[in-house]
Amino acid sequence: MRERLPVRVVRAVARVVVPVACPGCGREDVRWCEACVAAWWEDPWRAEHNAARLDIVGRPPLPVWVVAPLAGGAHGMIAGWKDGGRRDLDGLFADAAERLGRRVAPAVASVPGPWVVVPAPARRASTRRRGEDLPLLLARAVARGLAQGGIRADVRPALAIGAGEQRRRSAGDRWRAMRSAVTVQASLPPGSPVLIVDDVVTTGATLAACVAALEGVGSPVVAALALAAVERVAGDAHAGLW
Ligand SMILES: [Zn+2]
Repeated sequence: MRERLPVRVVRAVARVVVPVACPGCGREDVRWCEACVAAWWEDPWRAEHNAARLDIVGRPPLPVWVVAPLAGGAHGMIAGWKDGGRRDLDGLFADAAERLGRRVAPAVASVPGPWVVVPAPARRASTRRRGEDLPLLLARAVARGLAQGGIRADVRPALAIGAGEQRRRSAGDRWRAMRSAVTVQASLPPGSPVLIVDDVVTTGATLAACVAALEGVGSPVVAALALAAVERVAGDAHAGLW
């Protein structure tokens, strides 16, 4: 007869299998709490002025709409989703992205289509580890929301990003490397306006690289949408998690 496992071992295993704490605030015995979820139902706000690396020479500023500040419970939730194995948040974040698309649709409706939604490129290793391409998941949700707002848009995962030894480089080196690492891998309808979708916006370096790559092949980028962005704090040099 097999020996029974100690209760503490059984509990520890259960916690691994079934997440039992809110990733936003750590409150136990709930998958997430209402207070932390509420951040994802706020109205979208413009975050491009918070992204220091998004100033792109030779083009007007890129409007960036986001739902939540990358802080507090919202930060915890998105970190749990991206890097903490909390894939049970897929539906919640897809819903938030869909609503974001619906709310932003009127702001871009004056631009004649057909629109293309392009997810920011995920590194292959990240997608493998997560079991899902999260920016693509969000892009599909945004397209559903745009459709509800009267804008038909095709989702085209056209961007790729090369693998690189990012962590050993300085911020400036990372930025220059990022610019050349993002490439367009698939053809897009010529001249179609593009919306880029990403999960978070921190310095804006990734977005700037995406814009440069897309506009380099003649696809005008009209705006970007993301779940969360850093809020600018005066004098705060953002250390950045991503
Ligand atoms: Zn919470």
